[in-house]
Amino acid sequence: MSRALLIVDVQNDFTEGGALAVEGGDAVASGVTAFLAAHAADYDVIVASRDWHDPEGDNGGHFADQPDFVDTWPVHCVAGTAGADYDPLLVTDAVTHHVRKGQGKPAYSMFEGVTDEGDTVGDVLAAAGVLSADVVGIATDHCVRASALDAVAHGVHVRILTDLIAGVAPDSSEAALAELAHAGAELVESGAE
Ligand SMILES: [Zn+2]
Repeated sequence: MSRALLIVDVQNDFTEGGALAVEGGDAVASGVTAFLAAHAADYDVIVASRDWHDPEGDNGGHFADQPDFVDTWPVHCVAGTAGADYDPLLVTDAVTHHVRKGQGKPAYSMFEGVTDEGDTVGDVLAAAGVLSADVVGIATDHCVRASALDAVAHGVHVRILTDLIAGVAPDSSEAALAELAHAGAELVESGAE
């Protein structure tokens, strides 16, 4: 049974010092790196996503001067800028597929993105016969939530590694985890196995 690790948006703009910094983002980046050092071989596919917005315009209403931090956001992860790069604390050597999303539009789920070859995450998982996926990254209440829900919808058994995620706000992160558990995802710590 093939397994995948899905690493959601561990990018400079979402970690400490970034345009849309999430508290604990750096810890997620270094934690995922340590996890990969021990467990990369446990996975057949390792997909990492990056939010990758157009420099022009508001990316379909995603950017706003007065953001509400629910549906609109400060400018972040503009294609080709340092903010859109992976956080340097994340070592990506073991990543088998890099996915970019959000070009000109909001895209919370990595399943909305494509690889450089144009494959969706759904294509990648199907081609590899992936039946279970572990999800880590940023942010629990937005892109981790949406990516994990899409993984469940693709018929994959999903586990959220709860010590390797960070959220924008505590209440919405707690609600997202409850929603994911209700949808059938398992909530486990990375050291649990
Ligand atoms: Zn975005």
